Amino acid sequence: MKDIKYVFVTGGVTSSLGKGILSASLAKLLQSRGYSVTIQKLDPYINVDPGTLNPYEHGECYVTLDGAETDLDLGHYERFLNVPTSQANNITTGRIYQTVIEKEREGAYLGKTVQVIPHITDEIKRRIKLVSSDNKFDIVLTEIGGTVGDIESLPYIESVRQLKWELGPQNCIVIHLTLVPFLPSTGESKTKPTQHSVKMLLEEGIQPDILVLRTDRNLSADIRRKVALFCNVEENAVVESVNVSTIYEVPLRMLDEKLDQIVLKKLNLPVNEEPPLVEWREFLRRLKNPKHFIKIGLVGKYVELADSYKSITEALVHSGSSNECKIDIKFIHSAEITDKNASEKFNGISGILVAPGFGSRGIEGKISAVRYCRENNIPFFGICLGMQCAVVEFAKNVLKMEGAHSTEIDDKTKYPVIDLMEEQKSVVNKGGTMRLGGFKCIINKDSKTFEAYGVTEITERHRHRYEFNNKYIEDFRKNGMIPVGINPESDLVEIMEISDHKWFIGVQFHPEYNSTVIKPHPLFVHFIRACIEK
Ligand code: GLN
Repeated sequence: MKDIKYVFVTGGVTSSLGKGILSASLAKLLQSRGYSVTIQKLDPYINVDPGTLNPYEHGECYVTLDGAETDLDLGHYERFLNVPTSQANNITTGRIYQTVIEKEREGAYLGKTVQVIPHITDEIKRRIKLVSSDNKFDIVLTEIGGTVGDIESLPYIESVRQLKWELGPQNCIVIHLTLVPFLPSTGESKTKPTQHSVKMLLEEGIQPDILVLRTDRNLSADIRRKVALFCNVEENAVVESVNVSTIYEVPLRMLDEKLDQIVLKKLNLPVNEEPPLVEWREFLRRLKNPKHFIKIGLVGKYVELADSYKSITEALVHSGSSNECKIDIKFIHSAEITDKNASEKFNGISGILVAPGFGSRGIEGKISAVRYCRENNIPFFGICLGMQCAVVEFAKNVLKMEGAHSTEIDDKTKYPVIDLMEEQKSVVNKGGTMRLGGFKCIINKDSKTFEAYGVTEITERHRHRYEFNNKYIEDFRKNGMIPVGINPESDLVEIMEISDHKWFIGVQFHPEYNSTVIKPHPLFVHFIRACIEK
């Protein structure tokens, strides 16, 4: 049996230095050198998964094909690697404790006192190894959430210390990402925060093997030497990560810094050929040399935090590049939109995307945005709640069903055109109980949706409780809003389209989770194309 190699990525000094992007970039390079790689995220919070978190807390919740609600970093992993992740790729403290406590209740610990060491750390190590249990991967990259020194991340760091000891230095390495700030007053880049952060890591028992220094300017050889000396790291294993204009540039910068080669040498693996990254470079070339410029309105209620719609904004970047188009995303809070001010709010905008969401806040503004698109032949793309709003708007204003709504918003409505699924009616727990993950959909050939996909059978990911109410399907069809995508097993409506419109498509699923650099999502690509034509 081959040795599986483990690379851990920790962060120091501050959060938000981009551990996720660094991990995804390194994984991309290792993958391009012929290794099969997966990435895992360990999150230190006590929620069992981020499904119950408000997007304002940690940004969007990313859904895997197998229906796990996970951290948004998994989205980066998929977008960079073009390989699906699964439930096993995201672990939280909540899930670890839940497993250990359940085992304790079963009596599995035979009367022993259950403790952080060894029981919690053993469970963490078991989960880290689980992701490669079928030997599918050569290298497992594990990103540890939070910042070194946080109380919450201690058991994770301790587990890494143990793994390093158990597996040996050629099988397990640690990359520590820190910040080297520039002080304008003295005109110097400062290494002290990095030194302190490494000390903290040493106190917790880990000597990092590689340091990646995040900085806003190039660092001199002197600075690198100083960091290497004080942090006890080989000089060539101190790498800089300078700010770049797009996250998709980071793999190329890390290639320049030879991060992948350093990692492979430390893991005693052949370096293989330099990856040409042809498609990746072509993607960047198109992204940076646009021929078209458009503004897209993104209507939602979490717009204050752009990370709430991470997969959507990234899918727009992918589809922009494939159309050689620079997209300026204008975030518009749905609560600010009314039928009256819509034309003023959307002035200069080429197309509108109504975002997913939950609950009633801002819902009427979303419906107004839909109406504006429908009546003015503006390209419209509705995702999940966005599609549900399109259905409600059509029922109210075209089918004249007064008071029509989704029962999520108005449970007494006379026309429940969007209603709770039968199997959802008995559900009481909120966590992990939605319709989640990949489901099949059959597409009608006579549709714009088919023009985009070019195939009749697709699988897309879901995350919702409410559905189009099939009782009204004929009313919609007869009046021009056509259910062009249906789930073959349940007959549930997946895609609604107004055929007599420039581009008006609402989808019950989340296409944004399936968009990657190498494979931009066809619906996004065609939506942007329609916006450019407009
Ligand atoms: N709130 C809606 C539902 O649960 C839509 C969810 C979403 O947009 N993801 O069905």
